[in-house]
Amino acid sequence: MTFASLGLIEPLLRTLDGLDYTTPTAVQAQAIGPILKGRDLMAAAQTGTGKTAGFALPVLQRLMQEGPQVASNSVRALVLVPTRELAEQVQQSIQTYGQHLPLRSYSVYGGVSINPQMMKLRKGLDVLVATPGRLLDLYRQNAVKFNQLQVLVLDEADRMLDLGFSKELDELFCALPKKRQTLLFSATFSEAIRGMARLMLRDPLSIEVSPRNAAANTVKQWLVPVDKKRKSELFLHLYQSKKWSQVLVFVKTRKGVDELEAYLQQHGISADAIHGDKPQATRLHALQRFKDGEIKVLVATDVAARGLDIDDMPLVVNFDLPIVAEDYVHRIGRTGRAGATGQAVSLVCADEVQHLSAIESLIQQVLPRVDEPDFIPDHRVPQTVAGGLVVKKPKKPKKPKVVGGGKGGSLGRWLEADEPAAPAVKAVRKVPSFGGKPKAGRK
Ligand code: AMP
Repeated sequence: MTFASLGLIEPLLRTLDGLDYTTPTAVQAQAIGPILKGRDLMAAAQTGTGKTAGFALPVLQRLMQEGPQVASNSVRALVLVPTRELAEQVQQSIQTYGQHLPLRSYSVYGGVSINPQMMKLRKGLDVLVATPGRLLDLYRQNAVKFNQLQVLVLDEADRMLDLGFSKELDELFCALPKKRQTLLFSATFSEAIRGMARLMLRDPLSIEVSPRNAAANTVKQWLVPVDKKRKSELFLHLYQSKKWSQVLVFVKTRKGVDELEAYLQQHGISADAIHGDKPQATRLHALQRFKDGEIKVLVATDVAARGLDIDDMPLVVNFDLPIVAEDYVHRIGRTGRAGATGQAVSLVCADEVQHLSAIESLIQQVLPRVDEPDFIPDHRVPQTVAGGLVVKKPKKPKKPKVVGGGKGGSLGRWLEADEPAAPAVKAVRKVPSFGGKPKAGRK
């Protein structure tokens, strides 16, 4: 299959040629044709599958072929994204893909001054990429109107709900014209997202590019058990002994990010950090330096986990496991992109066994354990076994009599050595409601 056979116009084909995109990825092959025909779409596509071009190319083409000249303060296509970083990246992609088209695009997000954004909106925009909170601010101040809106794209919709944007989305959706095309993208599809899709989409085409909630199979994953207080030391040891080139490291808290960054710098490693407390310009600068290879280790919280497209990222380290299991899939989606192989290493302490179990259930595999001889933990990380549900919190280890074991089991559930197989307690994950109402990567 070629991009030309999907019906894309010459200026877009020229751009793709320049980018060396010879063959459409799976999501592009399935999405571009139906979007060009005006269908609504619900797509389960992992990051790194080329989903940005999957929606950007046909949306740009439709904007060229249909609809009026954009009026002042109006937008014709709106792309909602969960984070500032993703807004920047999707906007860059749209600009790249539309480089031979006379269309105007821009991104708006919080954490920076609203005035330049208002100025930019005055002339009207063909494509606006926005985070929900800032867009709502602009809407309330009459800086943006939706009466010309032709297309709405919800990118990483699951993440928008996870970040608690359901109220903002509710209010925005009420302001949008009913007659429009809606495209919903999500790496994972929870019931909340499916509910949202039922309310937002008209007779959507469903596309599932990869198995639901599966991690990229090009990523080799394993974990190293370690005591909590020795994680920094272990990271440094692995970094040096394994001669890692570039690493993206995820840490749970902002404080933890800063501490690891400082520790690595003290040991002569070029490290930088991004998290929500840092000004946007600093975050983008750090990301750019990492992409340019100027820094070797980028330490980040989950704010940075989504949507970062870093070419040939060989390695992701989970310094802490994420609390929400789906975030694991998104984190490791930073590597093994566009068919490349990658590695994802998790440093896991005993406290984290419940998170581990939830992750293993989600990805339907028990992560192999690789002990580091000098870092065998005093507080043993209980074994996870098939079943996938957490029974109870880990007790302090007594004797290392291991039941089950990671190797044989296919799903994650942990069991204390001397614990009877108690009836499983259902693990409950809090999913924000949306009030009963409807609530690209770089080139
Ligand atoms: P995305 O999933 O949209 O973040 O894209 C992941 C990466 O794949 C980006 O670096 C894109 O530039 C790249 N990409 C997207 N589509 C193609 C394609 N058809 N051929 C080669 N690379 C692509």
